Amino acid sequence: MSDRPVVTRIAPSPTGYMHIGTARTALFNWLYAKRTGGKFLLRIEDTDRERSTLPAVQAIFDGMDWLGLIPDEEPVFQAARADRHVIAAQELLAKGRAYRCYMTADELTAEREIARAEGRAVQSPWRDQDANFNDRPHVVRFKSPREGETVIHDRVKGDVTFKNKDLDDLIILRTDGTPTYNLAVIVDDHEMGVTHVIRGDDHLNNAARQTLIYEALGWEVPVWAHLPMIHGPDGAKLSKRHGAQAVSEFDDMGYLPEAMRNYLARLGWGHGDDEIFSDEQAQSWFDVTDVVSAPARLDWAKLNHINNHYLRLADIDRLVALTQRVRASRGEPVHDADSAILHRTIPLVRDGAKTLLELADAVIFALKPRPLELPEKVTGMLNEETRARLTRLRENLAGQADWEVPALEAALRGFAESEGVGLGKIGPALRGVLSGGASAPDLAGALVSLGKAESLGRLDDALSPAA
Ligand code: GLU
Repeated sequence: MSDRPVVTRIAPSPTGYMHIGTARTALFNWLYAKRTGGKFLLRIEDTDRERSTLPAVQAIFDGMDWLGLIPDEEPVFQAARADRHVIAAQELLAKGRAYRCYMTADELTAEREIARAEGRAVQSPWRDQDANFNDRPHVVRFKSPREGETVIHDRVKGDVTFKNKDLDDLIILRTDGTPTYNLAVIVDDHEMGVTHVIRGDDHLNNAARQTLIYEALGWEVPVWAHLPMIHGPDGAKLSKRHGAQAVSEFDDMGYLPEAMRNYLARLGWGHGDDEIFSDEQAQSWFDVTDVVSAPARLDWAKLNHINNHYLRLADIDRLVALTQRVRASRGEPVHDADSAILHRTIPLVRDGAKTLLELADAVIFALKPRPLELPEKVTGMLNEETRARLTRLRENLAGQADWEVPALEAALRGFAESEGVGLGKIGPALRGVLSGGASAPDLAGALVSLGKAESLGRLDDALSPAA
């Protein structure tokens, strides 16, 4: 290996949503570039014009942005570089390392059958002919060596040996002159200066073919690192029934991007038993050689635990905005004026939330408009004795100057004592009146969330003769 500066890349094909496996591959490439002081690049592999779509390109940009994995240069679009790929094919032709193959579809089908029966790779009769009939349709094939072995020194899988006789002469230019994937990837990686190809292990076989083409072009072969798949919790290939596959679904389910980075880093890689770590720590620890070669399993409980950790650390302004976003997406009313209530409520409820959706559930009580509709289990508690007691409590609270949790806890305890009852006699009804039966923090917490005026107002509504 030369001492070229490290350049890594993620090279997704924009043919659908951004898969969580692609996100993890991007993360590992990003971490490795950061660890080594190198560069992390993005290439959109849009050569398959029929399957590539603009919304899928956008989904990749959005997913990368959301995850905070920002490439160090403008993205490269593979399809725009077709002329570069063709030049490389011509170079291989000139060097005698590629040839024009004029086999017809029928001839190819027949040869495939024979090759299968003989247990060998497909062979073209044009391989050694150096033919060039301009007017006849043809593909250009790479002249793959038939003898010897190709060894991939993979940083994750170890040494993987391929017998060259099993590798057929890969098509590098199609009949219409367009380059194929294996050629395009090599030319682009080479010209982008990519030193480390870290990608899914579904590309391990391609690495052997690509190595041969690199060598034929006289280009330095990159370091290979093929990552194991992410499986569902049951060990089967990740699919819809496991809950989510697309990066955007994790966003919709209320996971924070920093939690995803931390969690995805743990899928197949780790630093001892450390469950929670910062980006800086991951960037200083990550080495692709420490990635395990067995598939990783998605574990929702761990993801929830990590997300809860980051919800507890997050800036409150940000959580207010994200909670409002969840509410808007659910069609719940969103008012700027609610921001103050959310600022008071979120710190009191976030410890119990695993996701932003749960956080949005936990603030519902505070945002209900007055007068609250009280469910029967609450109105049923409001007998004459309780009403009288809550009326006295309302007066007590009205005189309360310090509207903070410790002071309100002390006030509630003092009030219960003066009434000669335990807090258990007051708590449920007060809580019901303040929350309308929705889940809410402890009594003092609920009072702080609502603020003094709203708390007293909700008590007044419930205690008014009409209620
Ligand atoms: N475009 C390929 C894919 O989306 C990745 C190719 C590569 O990383 O070399 O699977």
